Amino acid sequence: MDDCIFCKIARGEIPSRKVYEDDELFAFHDINPARPVHLLVIPRRHITSLATIEEADAPVLGRLLAIANRLATENGSPDGFRVIINTGRVGQQEVQHLHAHVVGGPEPVGPMLKRI
Ligand code: 5GP
Ligand code: ZN
Repeated sequence: MDDCIFCKIARGEIPSRKVYEDDELFAFHDINPARPVHLLVIPRRHITSLATIEEADAPVLGRLLAIANRLATENGSPDGFRVIINTGRVGQQEVQHLHAHVVGGPEPVGPMLKRI
């Protein structure tokens, strides 16, 4: 995807504060952190969202989740963290390249959602 901001970050065409990369995954600090630790983990390959995944995407998604604990621990959230994957319009996904937010820090992150 030529004009996808997260594809450009994964290719190094837009700078980011990288915390991890391998053949399939790329992780970096969110530019506008909501908590002391706020990382984004993305597949290098463009996948739009959890609403568009296919069976073949399962391994990379598994790896994406499996790396979250290590990244949280290494970056200041050793005692747990929260993973958020906003999806589509209702999930209020702003960037249309699948990404997991890994949020945490020394203190609990707060309520999961504001109750209706
Ligand atoms: P979404 O609402 O799509 O789940 O979250 C998108 C996230 O991407 C937001 O938290 C936003 O701060 C972050 N973001 C958007 N553009 C950039 C960027 O250019 N660099 C970085 N590091 N984060 C970005
Ligand atoms: Zn992309």
